[in-house]
Amino acid sequence: MSQLNFLDEGIEELRRQGLFRELRTIEGSQGATVELCGRRVLCLCSNNYLGLADREEIREAAKAAIDRYGVGAAASRLVSGHMRPHEDLEAELAAFEGAESALVFPTGYMANLGTIRSLVEKGDLILGDRWNHASLMDACRLSEATFRVYGHGDMDALEGALGRGSTFRRRLIVTDSVFSMDGDIAPLREIVGLADRYDALVMIDEAHGTGVLGAHGRGAAEELGVESAIPVKIGTLSKALGCVGGFVTGSRKLIEFLRNRARTFIYTTAIPPAICEAARSAVRIVRSEPELRQTLQGHVLWMWERLGYKPPPILSPMIPVLVGEAGRAVQLSQFLLEKGILSPAIRPPTVPEGTSRLRLSLMATHSREQLEQACCVIQAGLERFP
Ligand SMILES: *Cc1c(COP(=O)(O)O)cnc(C)c1O
Repeated sequence: MSQLNFLDEGIEELRRQGLFRELRTIEGSQGATVELCGRRVLCLCSNNYLGLADREEIREAAKAAIDRYGVGAAASRLVSGHMRPHEDLEAELAAFEGAESALVFPTGYMANLGTIRSLVEKGDLILGDRWNHASLMDACRLSEATFRVYGHGDMDALEGALGRGSTFRRRLIVTDSVFSMDGDIAPLREIVGLADRYDALVMIDEAHGTGVLGAHGRGAAEELGVESAIPVKIGTLSKALGCVGGFVTGSRKLIEFLRNRARTFIYTTAIPPAICEAARSAVRIVRSEPELRQTLQGHVLWMWERLGYKPPPILSPMIPVLVGEAGRAVQLSQFLLEKGILSPAIRPPTVPEGTSRLRLSLMATHSREQLEQACCVIQAGLERFP
């Protein structure tokens, strides 16, 4: 066992820095409130933005699918795991996104890994925003292409890098559409303009935009009117859609290519058919109930103002409450929990040193009273731990 002694040191170091993490067990389902240690607490940190993770119709869709299709898909998609629900979900996603075709992966993380590795090779250049999600960062690093990071939202830096990258065979720009730590939106209009000028391909990750932004809930690209200029779009079934899984949408050719090349699609078991049916039901709810995202938008605007911050022009469901040091963020988070509010501290390495924070994630199914209560507690906490 002595070979594992280095773990003690590693753990001790994390504890000293206030960065040690532990799991909390939620009993029952994921709703606006959740049961934690025998108490009901307000959940202010999930990605269940529309409250779909425990919606009745979606539960029913999953149950009916289990009765009809069983539990496991029993093989990878290209062997014998591609079942009617996978086919139907991909058709539903393509229709929802207004795309020719869609491809579902087990997770959004895997969709990013598989797609980027398939699209670029040695001799190509990837340019990614510094604050891209970890899955995009990993995907870019694991690809065989040259990977360069540009400053967050820094279009001059991106343009410079594109100019210097003219000798590469292909250029791929990769960005979150809604950044997962501050909830801010990528300058997609500028990005597609630069891509056009410098002959680059654009891929965006709409993980936090799907179901939430845009007139039809298709995300930030829809909100900004640039969908037709973005040939590769990633989404996840695990956030606003309340299920699990990732997907890519684009042209038929793109999807055919990825089906043949993306290793995280080929070499893994198909997601359970019941999850496909649940996700299809969730997409239908997003399409038929625009009032869900309108309610959410109303909550978010109200909360920014109630906390005394200036709301950004495009509102994602996340509101960052910057606290600075990791230790202070932990104290604040513990204080909130004592008062019945769940919002874990977000610390390095997830965010840069000195920018630990609470990241409030709002849900359409929160009530205004719940949010008002949360604001009072947060303000009291900020005063208490200056
Ligand atoms: C959450 C997230 C992912 C990962 O999606 P999963 O389906 O949870 O694996 C990818 N990209 C971004 C921007 C995310 O926020």
